[in-house]
Amino acid sequence: AKYLGGNNIQLYHQGLENQSKDYMEIEGELRKAMQNNELEVFYQPKVNVHSQCIESAEALVRWQHPKKGVISPAEFIHIAEDSGLIAEIGEFVLLESCLQAKQWADNGTAEITVSVNVSAHQLRHENLAQAVGNVLKTTKLPENQLELELTESSLMENLSAATALLKRLSDLGVSISLDDFGTGYSSLSHLKRFPVDGLKIDRSFIKDITSKPEDEAIVNAIIVLGHSLNLKVIAEGVESKEQLALLDQLGCDEIQGYFIAKPLSSQDMTTMLLQQKSG
Ligand code: C2E
Ligand code: CA
Ligand code: CA
Ligand code: CA
Repeated sequence: AKYLGGNNIQLYHQGLENQSKDYMEIEGELRKAMQNNELEVFYQPKVNVHSQCIESAEALVRWQHPKKGVISPAEFIHIAEDSGLIAEIGEFVLLESCLQAKQWADNGTAEITVSVNVSAHQLRHENLAQAVGNVLKTTKLPENQLELELTESSLMENLSAATALLKRLSDLGVSISLDDFGTGYSSLSHLKRFPVDGLKIDRSFIKDITSKPEDEAIVNAIIVLGHSLNLKVIAEGVESKEQLALLDQLGCDEIQGYFIAKPLSSQDMTTMLLQQKSG
């Protein structure tokens, strides 16, 4: 028993060491990746439920690793957050997607909004409003073509700072949407205090919406609440025709998900926008 116990402890330590070694390895590789332009912005269309037109696209970062292939943000965003690298990644994604939206508008492809994810770290450390203002100025993208997606939990970290920041951002004319809505400990009273324009219902509520009446009830309640506050309501993670039909019936404004399209390279997104244009 003694032997086993000792062994277990040793294994435990090895586990931890491996974990932090991986962690630092990824952090180092991520730094290099940025220098080597291995990060790329993909775009996932958001479609108006009524017009069925693409109104906007969410910018989602991808890491094209020379050996490992495409690495998803789920695997590196938290490391980027902890190490502060997210500041650089966030600036890159913001600039790149504004340039892209401006280009689509200028070359006649489409006039759509781009939605950019903002991390908790960016809210804490960056002068986000100034960074956003600068990017709008450099890219000349009309401010109403930029939307920022922020999570409730990141805003809850520091309520008064967050409220002031949202005010500055909405003064700039960009839209703000609450991401992963329903998963944080959302305090409904803050909804009316935050100057937000939209709610994005988390995929976890959409997943079983056609089979679980409780999920349908929650989604219905979010849509009614959002509309009574004059907010646009969007559902993410829509994967089937049945989900879309139900969301349409419940009055959801926009949908995003594999049923429409997976996140696409800018080239593939351009093709999709051109197809829509030609009818
Ligand atoms: P998110 O903001 O909730 O983004 C939606 C995620 O759901 C994306 O995963 C998207 O590919 C995925 N998704 C979309 N439609 C469907 C669907 O129908 N079914 C399923 N199963 N999944 C769907 P992705 O691209 O892997 O991104 C994961 C998360 O990483 C994002 O979650 C976001 O929190 C974060 N992230 C991605 N890009 C950025 C970025 O540029 N900056 C920051 N701060 N975070 C980012
Ligand atoms: Ca998002
Ligand atoms: Ca989301
Ligand atoms: Ca989500």
